[in-house]
Amino acid sequence: IMRAEGVGKSFGSVQVLKGIDLEVAAGEVVCVIGPSGSGKSTFLRCINHLEKIDHGRLSVNGTLIGYEETDGGLHELREADIARQRTRIGMVFQRFNLFAHLSVLDNIVEAPIHVNGENRRDAERRARTLLERVGLADRADSYPNELSGGQQQRVAIARALAMNPALMLFDEPTSALDPELVGDVLDVMRDLARAGMTMIVVTHEIGFARELADRVVFMDDGRIVELGPPDLLLTAPSHPRTQAFLSTVR
Ligand code: ATP
Ligand code: MG
Repeated sequence: IMRAEGVGKSFGSVQVLKGIDLEVAAGEVVCVIGPSGSGKSTFLRCINHLEKIDHGRLSVNGTLIGYEETDGGLHELREADIARQRTRIGMVFQRFNLFAHLSVLDNIVEAPIHVNGENRRDAERRARTLLERVGLADRADSYPNELSGGQQQRVAIARALAMNPALMLFDEPTSALDPELVGDVLDVMRDLARAGMTMIVVTHEIGFARELADRVVFMDDGRIVELGPPDLLLTAPSHPRTQAFLSTVR
């Protein structure tokens, strides 16, 4: 469902991604681990074109992201077309970036109504179903600042799901949370994974990766150093850099 081929990205003279090749199949859960600064967030942001790639190509569902291909090569799409592509790629960040001035329900229906043109009644009905799914059925009328971080993060997940994404990207969704709130968010992600959602999850939660990932990717210094099933990669990694990293997070 997602294919990255030779993806390269520099900030100024610093090359942050040095040729990433990765294919993620429908329904697969891929966890990305690696040291700080290795390019994990940048890679996720490239997938929905929040960052422009300098090299290679990236496609979701067979459609190039951010570019169209003509005889003359690749041309960047117009912002409106990119925005449309992004609607099918849900993204949940470390910091729950909900709209502070909107209620929980309005946060969730905002994009379905204003981007997809759904009518409010249908959008709200679906939003309430999603709130139930993330365990917040009774908080529809709350405002983000009345919720805990974990609850806000679950609203952020519901908001992303409201657009019927083909792919969900998570960037350390639990790392800004108090430890006692992590479990509820992981529970929601676990349900999603079991329901067959295609997910790419940057995480420090090695236990989560071990339990739910179909494959784990270890990134270091802008490259995928090693990838494989969790019981192999997390237990008996073959690359010394993976071994070194895992010994620091255990
Ligand atoms: P962490 O585990 O700390 O979140 P990461 O693996 O997600 O790290 P990235 O955030 O992708 O790492 O950053 C990779 C490198 O790119 C870092 O050296 C960072 O300083 C640099 N970088 C990221 N975004 C920008 C930017 N907008 N401008 C310049 N440099 C950037
Ligand atoms: Mg990051």
